[in-house]
Order: sequence, then C-alpha cells, then structure tokens
Amino acid sequence: MIGAADTTISPAAIHLNSNESVYGPSPHAAAAARAAVAGIERYLEDPDAALAPAIARRFGLQADLITIGQGSDDLLARLARAYLGPGTELMRSVNGYLKVPNYAYANDAALISVPDDNFKPSVDRMIAAISERTRIIYIASPENPAGTYLSGVELRRLHAAMPNDALLVIDSAYEEYVDAPDYEPAHKLVEESGNVVMCRTFSKIFGLAGARVGWAYGPDDVIDTLRRIALTFPVASPSAAAAIAALEDHAHTSFVRSANLGSRTWLTSELEGLGLQVVPSQANFVLVKFPNPEKTAEAADAALRARGISVRRFASPAFHDFIRITIGRPEELRACVAVISSFLIGDG
Ligand code: PMP
Repeated sequence: MIGAADTTISPAAIHLNSNESVYGPSPHAAAAARAAVAGIERYLEDPDAALAPAIARRFGLQADLITIGQGSDDLLARLARAYLGPGTELMRSVNGYLKVPNYAYANDAALISVPDDNFKPSVDRMIAAISERTRIIYIASPENPAGTYLSGVELRRLHAAMPNDALLVIDSAYEEYVDAPDYEPAHKLVEESGNVVMCRTFSKIFGLAGARVGWAYGPDDVIDTLRRIALTFPVASPSAAAAIAALEDHAHTSFVRSANLGSRTWLTSELEGLGLQVVPSQANFVLVKFPNPEKTAEAADAALRARGISVRRFASPAFHDFIRITIGRPEELRACVAVISSFLIGDG
C-alpha cells in the first residue's frame, strides 16, 4: 500500500555497514567532479592516460603498469575473465572477500577455499593446496570482513611457492588504513615479479565509493590483457576528475587515516570492555563476536537497526555470531557502543 507508514522499520541514519569513508572525499574532489559535469557530453577517451600519471606520482609507481577500472571489483572480474576457465582453479582463503567465489563460478573455474587461522589466511595451507590447475591465488590484505592481513614475509613465502603460470592477485583496497609494522605494500612484489598484480581503489580512504574508480598495478602482459577486455569507455569523466583531485589532497587522506586509527583502537577496546571478542583489524571496520548464546549477533543487529544504526551481518555460518562495524565518526561509534552496551545488560 503506497504511503502507509511502517512504524516497525526506522530509516538507518548511521551507516556503518559498507566500509565507506564516513569522512567523505576531499572537498577538492567533490568540486572537481562538479566542474567536470560541464564537459559531460564527451567520452573520457583514455582513463589510463588521464589517471595513471597522477596515481604513479602519488604512490611512487610506474605509470605504464597501471590500468584504471570501474572500481576494483571491475578489475578483479576482468582478471578472472582473462585467466580463469574450465579446468582451472581460483584459490582463496575461506572467510575472505565475499565476491570472490562469484569470479570462479562466472568463469567455470573450480573454487578452492582454503581453511584459515582465526580469519587470517593460512599461507601453509594455501601452499599445500597449489596444484597444476591453480591459475589465480587471491589474497586481500587487509581482508574483508575480518580486517586481518599478511605480513610482507608471509606474502613473499606464498609467492615463492607458486608456479610462474599462476597469478597472485593482491587486493589492497584497505592498504591506507594499515599501521602494522610488518605489513609491506604490495607494489614492491609486483615490481620484482612477473606474476603478481595489485588492485587498489578510490572507494575507501579517498571517500569516492559512488564514483566507481579502481586501479590495477601489474606486469606489462597482465595490464595489457586487462586493457584489451575493458569496456570501451569504462570511467565516467566526473569520477576521473574527482579521483585526480583526491590524489593531490594529502592532508585529507592523512586526517582520515589518523582518525580511523584512533577510532579503531577506541572501538576495539570499548567492545572488548563489554566482554565481546574483536578480531584485530588493520582496516576501517572491525568484526565483533557475540559469544553469549542469549545475546546473539542477530539480536544485537536488530537492536542497532531499531535505533537507526546499520551494521553488517553475513549469511555464511562461520560469521553467525559476528557483526562487522565500519569505523564511523567518534559520535557515531559512541552511539553504537551505547546501544550494544544496553543490549548486553538487558535493557536494550
Ligand atoms: N576488495 C575488497 C576486499 C573490498 O572489501 C571491496 C569493497 N567492498 C572491493 C574490493 C571493491 O571495491 P570497489 O569496487 O568499490 O573498488
């Protein structure tokens, strides 16, 4: 019935469910996107030419080894399309990024899901699972939804055990949020090897999830292959303009990074103080376990939702007792902790 008010559903006012940046983009990025609308009648002919030099400058990379996509999901999907097929295997850690199984199914490849250690990918088990059919090994570091990561040493150990005709895809969507001293940015391994590709995004720390811009950094032949199977004009011109301006605003990203670090530490210790278990996270979210069978994650999610706070639950049985909370602004997190606290003590 159109227009009937449903009083059981309150609109979510606090979005802590999709790991977007709660601080939004640089104001310069938003202004650049608006200005680019003036030229919207034209195609953006060559997104790589437009964006790769700015990305290369910002991160100290080689521009010719960068290609742009419609978000990093586009690049992951293209990698899968190019390298997988019947008789091949895509290997991933079992509780990793939820989109990855689709890439195997969509390309008639076998999905090899390797058991992890408390949500952290197990390099030993992944190495043991390598076969002559392994074509892609996918690692997100940090992982989503757990926020775990692999150290540079662990990633290199995995890579060293791989055959040359298999591709190591390192998804570094959350790299800018990492503060672990043994983390190593994946671009070094890309530059030293012929079979490693890194995917990055403007959706997270740059606050441009809706613009849909991501990029891959990899060996010549892989980047060339990705370009050949791209859409003709894959990136919207206002999105490209926003991304270029965002790259130049170092102050904004360093503010977001330090705000995220402070709030991640605060939220983790508040939740632990309430008796909950928090998976140590290097990203802009935390995965929280509700161990008390009378105070379930499902009920906590409902209590939060009833107060306009949306967090994320997952269908997989491994995540049954968990919710994932995006690191929001301090006031949003205080509201979230207050709801969880009263939920746990019984008056929620
Ligand atoms: N990789 C991981 C691990 C993610 O969590 C996400 C976002 N949910 C993506 C890739 C895709 O991001 P985008 O397509 O917005 O770049």
